[in-house]
Amino acid sequence: EVPVPGKVSTRYDLEKETELRFEVESGEAVEQIELELLTGMAEVFGSELNRNKKYTFGAGAKIAVFTWQGCSVNLYGKPEVAYVSKDTPMLLYLNTHAALEQMRRQAERDNERGPRVMVVGPTDVGKSTVCRLLLSYAVRVGRRPTLVELDVGQSGVSVPGTVSALCIERPADVEEGFSVQAPLVYHFGSTTPGTNIKLYNKLTSCLAEVYSQRCEVNRKASVGGCIINTCGWVKGSGYQALVHCASAFEVDVVLVLDHERLYNELKRDLPHFVRVVLLPKSGGVVERSKECRRDTRDEKIREYFYGFRGVTFYPFSYEVRFSDVRIYKIGAPSIPDSCLPLGMSQDDTQLKLVPVTPGRDLTYHVLSVSSAEDGEEGARKGIVESPVCGFIVVTNVDTQTQVMKVLSPAPRPLPRHTLLIMDIRFMDRASNS
Ligand code: ATP
Repeated sequence: EVPVPGKVSTRYDLEKETELRFEVESGEAVEQIELELLTGMAEVFGSELNRNKKYTFGAGAKIAVFTWQGCSVNLYGKPEVAYVSKDTPMLLYLNTHAALEQMRRQAERDNERGPRVMVVGPTDVGKSTVCRLLLSYAVRVGRRPTLVELDVGQSGVSVPGTVSALCIERPADVEEGFSVQAPLVYHFGSTTPGTNIKLYNKLTSCLAEVYSQRCEVNRKASVGGCIINTCGWVKGSGYQALVHCASAFEVDVVLVLDHERLYNELKRDLPHFVRVVLLPKSGGVVERSKECRRDTRDEKIREYFYGFRGVTFYPFSYEVRFSDVRIYKIGAPSIPDSCLPLGMSQDDTQLKLVPVTPGRDLTYHVLSVSSAEDGEEGARKGIVESPVCGFIVVTNVDTQTQVMKVLSPAPRPLPRHTLLIMDIRFMDRASNS
């Protein structure tokens, strides 16, 4: 137990099956909090802590240190809140993991596929946390599950406005979460599925197809199964999107967090062989305000360009001629059915590529660089279903010289020339100052 200079330290002795919850203040220039395990064993959202190692948590972090056997830990610094809770749903979550593991074992024996699990519930019930927990427990017993991230507002894998899939090869890092290497990412373009539900469902189907193809050639991925994190929108089209996802992925298990009506609706509407399970949310899950969500999104984009904690990236800034790229928005504004040309449906307009003429209003927009081949018309067809290879942000537009300046993780030239515009904007403080 080596004190951290200038910081108060508080020791907590935790009994078995209890957790210490703490929050770090949000905002800039706040004091970070260090956590150290002194005796016993403990985990943070399914990842084990090493003894006598200091873990650092920055602004806005909301953490639970859970112990199965009992432990003592130290916190260095003054958290905004810190308390011990004896009332946690962890045993139920562990049992859920055990049941999924049983299904994986059976899949292995019978040469079948492992469980495909969809986690649903309203906002702020801890969906992402439950996904992280189940994935970390699965890798800890040697599985290779896949995380499917359908939360376009708060993606744990890529920048907001995307859906993605990631093979999980090791437990989440206590401080940083899952290591994101070679994810499969698709452009959605906005932070709520409601802005283009057709596109959202289409991308869900794309991910399901690619995942199923992978399962066919990779036995470990197939047995490991997948855990699908969804959005908190559970009514109307949001609900329909969940039903669509269940069928596209042919899910075996649906975990409903803290929402009895949703549980009953899904039980009614999904095929009888799908196991729908109602689970309580943890009392520790912290509600996040609109601002807090916006800050998290901004931070995620900043991380993409500038790195995170120990890893610093140095993004590039360069000029791109309008004539060298093609910019599209996916989805034309919907028009009344009566005005649609004969033989065309609203679906067609929602998946349509609409060319964007670069203008000043493009400034600060995040653009996805599509991996679609650069050909003309022929290639246009596949753009919506093509994964993206990266993102850039427009930092300046000069209509006179027909050039825009972009922030990019890689030096020029752009790897591809088809760009998809997001509703999402990012103001780059670093390059403006
Ligand atoms: P969204 O509405 O964005 O989909 P969600 O339902 O996925 O949210 P999470 O992101 O899992 O919710 O959790 C919300 C916040 O609560 C996170 O910051 C997480 O770290 C925190 N949290 C989750 N469980 C606990 C706990 N037991 N103790 C303390 N904090 C927790």
